Amino acid sequence: MASAKTVQIPQALPEDPDPQALAAEILRVLRYRVGKDTTVATRYDWLTASIQVVRDRVIDHWMEATKEAYDRQEKRVYYLSLEFLIGRLMRDAFSNLGMMETMRQALVSLGVDLDAIAQLEPDAALGNGGLGRLAACFMESMATVDIPAHGYGIRYANGMFRQEIQDGWQVELPETWLDHGNPWEFERRERAFEVGFGGSVESVTDKDGRLERHVWKPGERVLAVAYDTPVVGWRANRVNTLRLWSGMPVDPILLDKFNAGDHMGALAESNKADALSRVLYPADSHKEGQELRLRQEYFFSSASLQDILQRHLSQYGDLGSLPDKAAIHLNDTHPAVAVPELMRLLMDVHGIDFDQAWDITRRTFGYTNHTLLPEALESWPVPLFERLLPRHMQIVYAINAAVLLEARATGRFNGDQIARISLIQENGDRRVRMGNLAFVGSHSINGVSALHTELMKQTVFADLHSLYPNRINNKTNGITPRRWLFQCNPGLTELARETIGDRFLDDIEAIHDLDRFAEDAGFRDKFAAVKRANKERLATLVAERLGIKVDPSALFDIQIKRIHEYKRQLLNILEAIALYDQIRSHPERDWVPRVKFFGGKAAPSYHNAKLIIKLANDVAKVINGDPSVRGLLKVVFVPNYNVSAAEVMMPAADLSEQISTAGMEASGTGNMKFALNGALTIGTLDGANVEIRERVGDDNIFIFGLKADEVAERRANGYQPRAIIEGSRELSQAIAAVSSGVFSPDDPDRYRDLMNGLYDSDWFMVAADFDAYAAAQRSIDDVWRDSPAWYARAIRNVARVGWFSSDRTIREYAKDIWNVPA
Ligand SMILES: *Cc1c(COP(=O)(O)O)cnc(C)c1O
Repeated sequence: MASAKTVQIPQALPEDPDPQALAAEILRVLRYRVGKDTTVATRYDWLTASIQVVRDRVIDHWMEATKEAYDRQEKRVYYLSLEFLIGRLMRDAFSNLGMMETMRQALVSLGVDLDAIAQLEPDAALGNGGLGRLAACFMESMATVDIPAHGYGIRYANGMFRQEIQDGWQVELPETWLDHGNPWEFERRERAFEVGFGGSVESVTDKDGRLERHVWKPGERVLAVAYDTPVVGWRANRVNTLRLWSGMPVDPILLDKFNAGDHMGALAESNKADALSRVLYPADSHKEGQELRLRQEYFFSSASLQDILQRHLSQYGDLGSLPDKAAIHLNDTHPAVAVPELMRLLMDVHGIDFDQAWDITRRTFGYTNHTLLPEALESWPVPLFERLLPRHMQIVYAINAAVLLEARATGRFNGDQIARISLIQENGDRRVRMGNLAFVGSHSINGVSALHTELMKQTVFADLHSLYPNRINNKTNGITPRRWLFQCNPGLTELARETIGDRFLDDIEAIHDLDRFAEDAGFRDKFAAVKRANKERLATLVAERLGIKVDPSALFDIQIKRIHEYKRQLLNILEAIALYDQIRSHPERDWVPRVKFFGGKAAPSYHNAKLIIKLANDVAKVINGDPSVRGLLKVVFVPNYNVSAAEVMMPAADLSEQISTAGMEASGTGNMKFALNGALTIGTLDGANVEIRERVGDDNIFIFGLKADEVAERRANGYQPRAIIEGSRELSQAIAAVSSGVFSPDDPDRYRDLMNGLYDSDWFMVAADFDAYAAAQRSIDDVWRDSPAWYARAIRNVARVGWFSSDRTIREYAKDIWNVPA
């Protein structure tokens, strides 16, 4: 996914070499580290050599940053996340180091095309969607705003699956991103920690028979080995570390077992360790609940905490000062088991009593909640938790006893409320509630948009919020403008530079200076030309990959994100069908040519989501093949949506689809990427859409549909979708067409249950919002016909969304949660 131009950073770094010197360096690395000369080097070898050359230049900044943090005794931030959706890193590093153009020239002199080898870099997809991408944006922003930080996660050998579309269906294939090695990472064999599972807990008593401490004797042990990737901030301000753990058998050769003749036993143990870092669970906002998942959560939490404590002790010598020198952040509840793990390490290993350990723990952790969906709130059956982590189970009970005592002492909670505060869910099977555990173990709990934070206070955490009223706070998500504007949209970046100067490169909110150019016809033309070029790039890609011809002068309407019923791709598809009907029934009308793009992965176990992908493809086939549509409407499903695909699609969008059922999307970040690249949003008042509207203004966004409180009210009062569907001719016709097999003649019943679901319950309120959505789409057509008005709005979007930078988000975390300077 090549880009024509690249952004030149004005102030090159002082040590930036000339292209000849860089070319010589590349040749040297190719020869002595890759072991090839130019006659036999493959394109992968050139890629490896180029990455290693930048990596070398990063190392000095890296060591410097690490040493400074040590010398100045700076507080460090530790960001624990089971997901980092990184994408490709080479351009990121070139761009942030200000050496993109020199590197390009150096490679040209060696007969190598930078864009061609950049395409070969695997897209590191160690995450599912928004949550993982947020972690990646945060890592880049923490380095940019100069916070000493480490990210901790798992080095999955197979990250997110690769999606292929076969006969319209999603097929999941393993993504083997490490096939050609990973030139970015450093393996740290010496930085390895043992992690235990199972076994039993023994009590050690003193000579008078008093309990001294508990000792956990795990039944199994594995080794977590560190792999470090440097994370470069803008202009290489700072280089931080992303440390990912890989599972290994404790004794790599397992000599005892092997020599004793137990070859299979030796193999089994090796496989067990390996399994911990083999695959990323591919469910996003969806139930998972496998034992291996809990093992992964504990594996990386324990290794990270042991590492953090070792670093702290070696510098400060005692753990009482931990909260002053370390802020540990839990990205969702996936690392929530770190709370009892820190307690265990403090009490059982370092001999600190419960009260002090609890005080240290709560002052050290912060927790971000990412979802209110009941099916995504993590909990584990007590018997499983107890079998895998017997000592942690005891500690969870002890914490729970302390919390419930505190709650009862206030005299403000009745039995039901106490039951909801409890870390243990008692109705049905007994389960450990990871959200409650993360909440009570943290001094700060944040939501990710203003609306989501408010709903969190009113719903999932209402009782805990009442008990601890000062803990919940909001930190609206953000995106890094380096990747999501400078790198992915060099055309727009250059245009902005020549129009308002370079200040926005270092302070993205200064892009507001573009606002007044919305009224400047000359600027609008240039802006439209950039958009046109980005659309042509996407059109070429779609023609090459899918054989579908789309017209770059049509309105590009894009919905790319995980496929989930609450995100309502179905609403969009049904509207496309209704529009298709209209175009055929009224050929005389002046229809706005549109291309509707879809992209996204479904969790492999999520039946309806996979069916929605098939429906999008079935509908595309019929509409694209119908000559009576005269090309006025096309539908394209772009396979394998990932960061690299997003980097091509965001800049090419005219319209951004953000149409979740109000109250269900915690924030969204795709909405921010689109707006920053000059797309107008059609959306519900959900997640960060609310704040996007506040910033871009009502005239520059298309809001429709039920609000969050109205959704709740409808549900409470017995929502009747059937009556609504029957009252909407367009909707009932579209549903009838799908239901009767118009789009699936080979299997007419394929979508019957999916459509019946709309009549019977329609939990996501597709029917309730359909007419308002269709009407908003037609008013969008009207604005599109007035091209100057459209581009003025698009320009205002770009100018007014600088606030949604992850630099701003991170500065808020630094000040309000972590208490570190930024
Ligand atoms: C930004 C991003 C997301 C999140 O998209 P939403 O629309 O906020 O759900 C998911 N996947 C990728 C690859 C992204 O870049």
